Amino acid sequence: ERTLLEELRDLPAQTSDGVMIKLVANIGSPADSGPALSKGAEGVGLYRVEFLFMETSEAPDEEMQYQAFKSVVDDMKGMPVVIRTLDVGGDKGLPYLALPKEENPFLGCRGIRLCFERPSLLLSQLRALLRAGVHGDIRILIPMISSLDEVRRFKKFLAEAQSSLENEGIAHAKELPLGVMIETPAAVFLAPHLIRETDFFSIGTNDLTQYTLAVDRQNERIADLFEQLSPAVLLGIKYTVDAAREAGKPVCVCGQMAGDVNSALLLVGLGVEELSMSPVHIPRVKNAIRKHSRVRLREIAKEVLGLATATEVKMKLEKCLG
Ligand code: PEP
Ligand code: MG
Repeated sequence: ERTLLEELRDLPAQTSDGVMIKLVANIGSPADSGPALSKGAEGVGLYRVEFLFMETSEAPDEEMQYQAFKSVVDDMKGMPVVIRTLDVGGDKGLPYLALPKEENPFLGCRGIRLCFERPSLLLSQLRALLRAGVHGDIRILIPMISSLDEVRRFKKFLAEAQSSLENEGIAHAKELPLGVMIETPAAVFLAPHLIRETDFFSIGTNDLTQYTLAVDRQNERIADLFEQLSPAVLLGIKYTVDAAREAGKPVCVCGQMAGDVNSALLLVGLGVEELSMSPVHIPRVKNAIRKHSRVRLREIAKEVLGLATATEVKMKLEKCLG
């Protein structure tokens, strides 16, 4: 007899009025691909490579990264795999990088800023990504973007990685789709510009909440101020989604919010059609999406956007969605 989970796995995440929502997985290692598939993930929406870099006593070389990326795309059998370049710095250090201590690490040399500071670290990732791109649908995601200059600079590195592989006669994808994480208020405001020079957005609601509200996401003393459903965060999401839609390009949400049932439904109401989450949440979110129409979710989202506090938002969602 088939379990509810098995039945759900093979059903589409389709609203009751027929809108297809793509549910993809956040993973931290190639070993997570199997569980992601068994929960019904239609691809990987966020592969956090930090773990790959934490397992070793020195930075994993290009070959090791290539093997890890290839293993995920092989498992995903043609489904999209979004791989984010290294996002350390901030709270996450790596002993072998010997990062200097910073006064304000979350506002410091984190994510893409650190990769620009260590070009060989970035180039080995980009070469591995381009090589693995031969085997499947790899898309590159840049973390911690706060200006268009960073996107342009990243593209120069990507072109350099591509031409070095070309010159060495190593098999690689000529081009891969490039997306940016929208997780700083600057990236939100710049969304219409950023989307013109990139292929997709992925909204990181964890950091977007942290930076929008100026609330350290790990500080227990102010944990009650970390409100992902603050109207300030929701307006940022809405602005980002509208910018992507106007450009005709896809936008995914990959922060914690995507895996919470009521928040996920709100995101669908705001126009998001792709949600990336820890695989364990996929069945519950899918089940909820199948029970609601997008028309209704849109109405709810519209009302929510007029509310002034996170408490009001949560009460409204509970009242309308249960
Ligand atoms: C986010 O910031 O929402 C996100 C998905 O990235 P991370 O949690 O890895 O910072
Ligand atoms: Mg983040």
